[in-house]
Amino acid sequence: MNRRRFISCAASTGLLLTGGVGHVLANDAPPIDTLHLTDEQWRARLTPEQYAVLRYSETEYAGTSQLNHEYRAGIYVCAGCDLPLFKSEWKYDSRTGWPSYWDVIHEHVTTRKMIYAYRAPVEYRCARCDGHHGHIFNDGPQPTGLRYCSNGTALTFVPA
Ligand SMILES: [Zn+2]
Repeated sequence: MNRRRFISCAASTGLLLTGGVGHVLANDAPPIDTLHLTDEQWRARLTPEQYAVLRYSETEYAGTSQLNHEYRAGIYVCAGCDLPLFKSEWKYDSRTGWPSYWDVIHEHVTTRKMIYAYRAPVEYRCARCDGHHGHIFNDGPQPTGLRYCSNGTALTFVPA
């Protein structure tokens, strides 16, 4: 990523403008079209719970998502923009109360290291709408050993 591209990405995610302290981009922005809406448009598009998670990085209460009990074959897409993020075969019961996956469609997420957060070192967001989805932990099952801890309200399940 060249500097101009970084500035563009950083500005579009607000990193350079507001709330950027403690965040750095940890990977290159994927080559997909991004979705930019006004705050008013996001409020109209999302439920209050989805808005709080996707646009303000809130975390849903553990055990509240219906997706905790979803194990049908299918795909999980971003509730903000329908970009596919997880395949059902990557989902597992982490017993944390949040829908968990051991892999992600890598080109569809961006990650940021949380410099000042000691419990959740890497945040991942939707690469198209920049919506917050969750954090990546190192206590997942093989073959990756990773746990993508997700907010179920930020995902929509699409059965196969
Ligand atoms: Zn999205």
